[in-house]
Amino acid sequence: MIRHLYVHIPFCARICPYCAFYKDLLDRSQTQRFCEAVLCELDERTGVFGVVPETIYFGGGTPTALSTSQLEFLLGSFHQRLDLSALEEWTIEANPGSVSARKAALLCKLGVNRISLGVQSWDNTLLKILGREHNAAQAEQSFHILREAGCLNINVDLMFGLPGQTVQQWQKTLEKTISLRPDHISAYCLTYEEDTEFFLRQARGELKADPDYDADFFEVGMSILEEAGYEHYEISNYARPGFSSVHNRAYWSGEDYLGVGPSAFSTVGMRRWQNLTDYRAYADRILLGQSPIAATENLTVELKRAERIALSLRTRDGISAMELQRFARETDEFAALGLLRESNGRFELTHKGKFLADSVAEAFV
Ligand code: SF4
Repeated sequence: MIRHLYVHIPFCARICPYCAFYKDLLDRSQTQRFCEAVLCELDERTGVFGVVPETIYFGGGTPTALSTSQLEFLLGSFHQRLDLSALEEWTIEANPGSVSARKAALLCKLGVNRISLGVQSWDNTLLKILGREHNAAQAEQSFHILREAGCLNINVDLMFGLPGQTVQQWQKTLEKTISLRPDHISAYCLTYEEDTEFFLRQARGELKADPDYDADFFEVGMSILEEAGYEHYEISNYARPGFSSVHNRAYWSGEDYLGVGPSAFSTVGMRRWQNLTDYRAYADRILLGQSPIAATENLTVELKRAERIALSLRTRDGISAMELQRFARETDEFAALGLLRESNGRFELTHKGKFLADSVAEAFV
């Protein structure tokens, strides 16, 4: 039985130069056909696996780049096709430029109960550098529109370590965010991913990454958000008590999930597969009754265990000491270095360890 569903909507009104997700410029002549292909894939998958979702996550791209009537068609069709009686959390990612009062009201009416808003910064100069479509005033307006529409669970996505960003600017962005009282805050460090414009600009020396500075941003973020009452429940995620993301927690703990849409991954049992990325080719295949799967991998117990350790270590709950039993030498070393501590039969990263989460996790592969 599949309990977690991810749907990838690849359209964006503008392409941000740092973005490594699969996305494409919004083409209104393609979106309806795309929605039909997604529903076709959903039918196909639900016929094979039992799907009674506890969480649904629409990510992208920008799901709210779809028009209000397309969202009504797509989400309404999910209601018709799926048993939603166990649904706890339905998240949709939104960008400030694509939120209207009508769209927000429709999403709430159709059962979306969590919106993740891509604000990234409240500084207009930095938003320009990031190539974002919106400015700070639009982001604030969108936040209020969502609240007024009745959305009780809003995540604000932020980024730090941006070109030219100072710690003071980051501090202001955090304070501004807190003043709006979102229920959840994600704070990611900018990374220069291959195949992005930022990567090329960094290679040419036009943009510089400074990992030492990134640690300062991380530290400031952690202290300001915790002080404001947000629980730091995963390296990049903070939530008011009771508002941690159910979907993400399921993913981090290694539960099965089904991904629908171009580029989406699925993991069911010992099998993982990824759909084709190009959304036109994806829709062509599906609508011709062919499989959209581009690659399949058979997982091993070892690989699943390594992934579970890496993901769990990033969370506040950490990992059970049993799982790390055969890594006694590594755990002792990390404990001696003050990066890992054991408490109540579980290992978790210390404050210092959180800065080096990825390196610690690598030792357990
Ligand atoms: S809006 Fe989001 S998904 Fe689209 S290009 Fe920008 S960062 Fe990538």
